[in-house]
Amino acid sequence: MSSLVAPDGAELVVHNPATGERVGSVQRASAADVRNAAARARRAQPDWHKAGIHRRAKVLSRFHDLLFEREEEVLDTIQRETGKPRREALVELLTVAGTASYYLAHGSRHLAEESHSGATPFITGARVIRRPHGVTGFITPWNYPFILSIADALPALLAGNSVVIKPSEVTPLSADLGVRLLVHAGLDEDLVQLVHGEGPEVGEPLIAEVDYIGFTGSAATGRKIAVAAGERLIPHSLELGGKNPMVILERAPLDEAVDGLLTGAFYNSGQTCIAIERAYVHESIFDDFVERARRKVEGLRLGYSLAWDIDMGCMISREHADKVMSHVEEADSKGAEIVTGGDRRTDLGETFIAPTLLTGVDESMALCRQETFGPVVSLYPVSGAEEAVERANDSAYGLNASVWTGTDAVSQAIARRIDTGSVHINSSLLIYNSFDVPMGGVKQSGVGRRHGSEGIQRFTRTHSIVSSVTTGGGYEGILSKIDSPKRARMLSKAFKLTRRIPGLR
Ligand code: NAD
Repeated sequence: MSSLVAPDGAELVVHNPATGERVGSVQRASAADVRNAAARARRAQPDWHKAGIHRRAKVLSRFHDLLFEREEEVLDTIQRETGKPRREALVELLTVAGTASYYLAHGSRHLAEESHSGATPFITGARVIRRPHGVTGFITPWNYPFILSIADALPALLAGNSVVIKPSEVTPLSADLGVRLLVHAGLDEDLVQLVHGEGPEVGEPLIAEVDYIGFTGSAATGRKIAVAAGERLIPHSLELGGKNPMVILERAPLDEAVDGLLTGAFYNSGQTCIAIERAYVHESIFDDFVERARRKVEGLRLGYSLAWDIDMGCMISREHADKVMSHVEEADSKGAEIVTGGDRRTDLGETFIAPTLLTGVDESMALCRQETFGPVVSLYPVSGAEEAVERANDSAYGLNASVWTGTDAVSQAIARRIDTGSVHINSSLLIYNSFDVPMGGVKQSGVGRRHGSEGIQRFTRTHSIVSSVTTGGGYEGILSKIDSPKRARMLSKAFKLTRRIPGLR
């Protein structure tokens, strides 16, 4: 976005999207700055790896505690550059702290050297060691600027990598603060660096330098990242968008399901990758559900405040508000019914949009299949579980889903049939704080997983060491002694037997 760049071209200027007030600026990096940052990160990384996981964990532990000591500053910074409500800024802090806490407790287990079976019992063995990639790069979006630039960097650092982060050009200040806190916690400043700037100008040179790239953002950019990473044959992860469905069947507790819809759809003003954008509601309860939802949505408090009195904030920018409104206006013009909302709240500011519910959305409307990434939900009546599952799965995306049926067994059965990386039962966004559970997408929603064992192991490459007894020149030497049908039969019999003996395979 050129409007973010200061007239002399040297800085990115950040404005509060709710008030328009200038809240800070950061230095833009050139391609040479990116190369320089990666070179410093590469020089610093081997000693960090050699220091061992316990020394690395000490830094993360201090960082975890610092988050709470500096809580007010963290929340103010996140709020000022995103316009989000204070409690949503707090959830960003808690999620980063939760990620640190989880990997401090379980990281060394996920990274531990493993003993494995060798080619044959008794005479061979195997060990698997996990080594860091080296320099890990991150390219991150604006919707959760603190979580998405800092939380993934924590397991990468704990695994022994150095890190270079390119945060969104729209929200660089939260990442800036996160990195300062990591350095304050004792991390060498070459091990965690920021390169600020617009996507292609800074992101592309970054991919050219690093050994792993972790990308979070849109599917359109994700494709470009995958191509660039593929050119260099470096491992990568892509955490992309969604068009996430919710299923509400006739026995669902309606008021609770309405609350689930409100959180799923309007949290962070719908600017959440796992946000609910489609709701499939059993036809027998459809009108009742829509009416209850309308009443609750109209009770939401919109605005911007550093206090705790706001339920929903603004869009990240005027441009993004225009994009969201274009989906709503097109649907309206083609015959969808706006149950509530559907307009801008210019009384609050040019980036505010009323939380919106629609019915009668059809295939001719962009709203039906494209990610809207705003406070807008389409509700569709369905005849039962079969139709709900079929329509939930009928999407190019596959990130997240939510199921409400009133019966755990029914919800569990439906959850198993939904083709997304995560499915919630009686909840909608819980996955992000389920740190022990892999999270990510299928189809156009991404490649790779964060959290759990995969969320730290992805920052390592396995190094396999296989060994053999020395007798007869080792395993291959023993095999080379098979020189008659009799010996071949003996070997085949031994192989057959090992499959039958429990514990040997
Ligand atoms: P975006 O793809 O426009 O930008 C993301 C990042 O990529 C930014 O830092 C941007 O500067 C950079 N970038 C853009 N073009 C680039 C290029 N050619 N080369 C290298 N870097 C480039 O996404 P956005 O608008 O900032 O974020 C919103 C999107 O992110 C939504 O689609 C949302 O669903 C997705 N998202 C996904 C997750 C997840 O975990 N799956 C989480 C949050 C957001």
